[in-house]
Amino acid sequence: MNKSIWLEQESLFEQVRTNINTDLLIIGGGISGTNTLYFLKDSPYKITLINNTNNNTTCNSTAKITYLQQDIYTKISKIYSKETAYQYYKSQIEAISLLTDIIKKENLNCDLEKAPSFIFTNTNKSTFKEEKDFLLSHDIRLKSKKKLPLDLPCYHALEVKDTYVFNPYKYITQLKQKLNTYKNISIYDQSVATSITKEKDQYKVCCNGKTITCKKIIMACGYPFEIEKNFPFTTYLERSIVSAFKYNKEKDFSAINVDQNVLSVRTYKDYLLFLSHSHNINNKENIEKEVKNHLHLQKELFSLDSEYTWINHDIMTNDHLPIAGQVKNTYIYLLTGYNTWGMTNSTICAKLISDLILKKDNAYQKLFDPNRSTNSKRIVNNLLYSISSGSRLICDKFYKNKDFYKDNVEIKKEDGIIYGIYIDQEKKEHKVYNLCPHMKCNLIFNSFDKTWDCPCHGSRFDIDGNVIKGPANYDIKIK
Ligand SMILES: Cc1cc2nc3c(=O)[nH]c(=O)nc-3n(C[C@H](O)[C@H](O)[C@H](O)COP(=O)(O)OP(=O)(O)OC[C@H]3O[C@@H](n4cnc5c(N)ncnc54)[C@H](O)[C@@H]3O)c2cc1C
Repeated sequence: MNKSIWLEQESLFEQVRTNINTDLLIIGGGISGTNTLYFLKDSPYKITLINNTNNNTTCNSTAKITYLQQDIYTKISKIYSKETAYQYYKSQIEAISLLTDIIKKENLNCDLEKAPSFIFTNTNKSTFKEEKDFLLSHDIRLKSKKKLPLDLPCYHALEVKDTYVFNPYKYITQLKQKLNTYKNISIYDQSVATSITKEKDQYKVCCNGKTITCKKIIMACGYPFEIEKNFPFTTYLERSIVSAFKYNKEKDFSAINVDQNVLSVRTYKDYLLFLSHSHNINNKENIEKEVKNHLHLQKELFSLDSEYTWINHDIMTNDHLPIAGQVKNTYIYLLTGYNTWGMTNSTICAKLISDLILKKDNAYQKLFDPNRSTNSKRIVNNLLYSISSGSRLICDKFYKNKDFYKDNVEIKKEDGIIYGIYIDQEKKEHKVYNLCPHMKCNLIFNSFDKTWDCPCHGSRFDIDGNVIKGPANYDIKIK
């Protein structure tokens, strides 16, 4: 798999090799799980965190810490109200303060830099004006600009100054290393939870063939598994291409547009990170072609070649608010659905989950509640997404991926079972089941990363069938 500019080591801690008894089990060691562990570190509970790999959404993000998030306040206002959008704004401001405080207090050397954020448009789009009006109506200090600190097509921009950028890998790994020294905390990598069963007042979680017994589970693994059966209908996944290249800059900054074709940039040391080609993973576009188009656009805009190129996807909710809280009738807590703004949202949601566990009040409990009531606009969004993913599921059953693949990939049906075959450069055949164990969608070969990807809910497998990204937590190897 192609690696991001951040990722150094996929695992730092030992694997789960014995049965474990713990009070709280955190599944997932990206920024959500790490932040939740941080807020619970001084609690009286014994806490275990299990993680598959650091090659996760966090370490593939662009890691801007900002409350200027495209036209999100306009979108939330349209679904709920301006008051709800303002509450979300307040949550982001609080998150920035919590996150930067953790970095300072724990002395984390994670390249945190104060960097102004911009939103911009290359059109005369009305949502840009609506977003500006929303921000001004709440006395948010911003500057109107006609251009960005770099030469990108820009008709109108807004700038705020009290925002940051950092290195997400250094943040989560250094924080986990510090937390692992606490007596009540144990952290494991290369450890995948595969099933959860309830026995009286305890949960039994199967992990690497061992059993973890716990009282409460915090699901910080991105796409949840074994709970929230409605989840696929209230969310979708958005994938983007990111690249990084050496770039002479005057100052640190980040910028994202509000136009249909998303463009986003940020500085990191003497690099510029550039993101484009964002779309629903349901969209059956050949990934190699997408990457080519991204690199072509980069060359056109910056006349530079990239040193790093990678792809990443995040979970989007149909009301633009994250999902965090206690799952109905369980002792399972969920935090996810950050709509590509996970640096701030994971922090505020981790604080919420820790407050719920410690029985403290939290201002955002209702706003992010996983069981929040639906309204007509959410129902329409649900329906549109269900139709799109349903038709995708059906089409995949018939679609033979004919013009999709080159000679080294084949989809074959034998005795009613569909297999995916990849032939590597040494002419070795890698044959796997072509069915995602999560919800039985057919997998698509990703020729850029050499992985089998699920177009429905984003699970990914390597060429030998090992699961590398959930929600699937079983391999597709042929036994
Ligand atoms: C292209 C792109 C750019 C982005 N840029 C920004 C940005 O600039 N600013 C911003 O705020 N946000 C950004 N985001 C969003 C942000 O990266 C994510 O919202 C955030 O990283 C999600 O963190 P997480 O901890 O919930 O998930 P992850 O980072 O994916 O962590 C989940 C962890 O759980 C583990 N796991 C999964 N299943 C299991 C299992 N069964 N057992 C054990 N472990 C398991 C995984 O290995 C993983 O380590 C971006 C997203 C994308 C796609």
